[in-house]
Amino acid sequence: MIPAFDAAAGWLQETVLLPLLYWLGMIEWEDISFGWALFAIYGLVQVIVTFAVCMPLERLRPVERWPDAGAVWVDILYTLIARVGLLPLVTFVLFYKLQVLLNGFLTDQGWVPPTLERLIPGLLGSPVLTFCLYVIILDFCDYWRHRLSHIFNWWYALHALHHAQRQMTFWSDDRNHLLDDIVGFIWFTAIALLIGIPPMQFPLLVLVLRFLESLSHANARLSFGWLGERLLISPRFHRAHHGVTAAGLNSVNYGAILPWWDMLFRTADFSADFAATGDPTAEETLATGGYLAQQWAGLRRMLGYPPPRGPSRSTTG
Ligand SMILES: [Zn+2]
Ligand SMILES: [Zn+2]
Repeated sequence: MIPAFDAAAGWLQETVLLPLLYWLGMIEWEDISFGWALFAIYGLVQVIVTFAVCMPLERLRPVERWPDAGAVWVDILYTLIARVGLLPLVTFVLFYKLQVLLNGFLTDQGWVPPTLERLIPGLLGSPVLTFCLYVIILDFCDYWRHRLSHIFNWWYALHALHHAQRQMTFWSDDRNHLLDDIVGFIWFTAIALLIGIPPMQFPLLVLVLRFLESLSHANARLSFGWLGERLLISPRFHRAHHGVTAAGLNSVNYGAILPWWDMLFRTADFSADFAATGDPTAEETLATGGYLAQQWAGLRRMLGYPPPRGPSRSTTG
């Protein structure tokens, strides 16, 4: 799609992945290795662009300053795993394979899967408009995924990991429980397949959306003004969703990209100032524990086990 990315992925595959696969006796993974390399490079570029934009914002206009920002490190790890590591492989390669499989199966059955362009012929020849429509539909569905994750107890037990962070920065977007990510992946993929997003548009779509989602978590005193706030979700808007008084069922501002669904379903709160973030109902491990400790604590909470006894507040890990 973008030649420089293809070339970089080719280089990564040739010089690192293929020798490694050969050495491991797993050369049958050759196909997938290019897919992974391509999307890992997309992810890396995304992390670099996000860093380049958000870091200066957080330095210039921070909402909070922490003498010890130790809890941010685990969010950096979440980001690298989610965008460069394992998840690109699962998300993109699996999505692509699934779509090819599903389309093959449906075509065999004599049924041509829908695409937006086929449903709305006026879109033919306007790729930008089609792209925007895909964004709007996916964002609408994501509003409901997120809202439901606050309604069902088992789901919020996992999502509490995202809300537990008291040192919220642009790195916090990927701070999710793995099971929550898997549910999100199935949700997103099912919808993307249903509305027929062409496989090669999917990564670009994710690239754009994820940048905006990272920005909305930035520890930056940034709002887009009266009109702007109603067009696109700002750091101020999403911060209200993470506010200490807004955890769990009482939350507001569930949208990821567009605030329209919150306005439509009456969950928007434009009034809040830059609130302190965190979830007081979450055990301390979910806020300041290491990666594995957080995953384990989220799983335990989902299964209904009480948090283990011990020092109630720890700042290590
Ligand atoms: Zn939430
Ligand atoms: Zn968030």
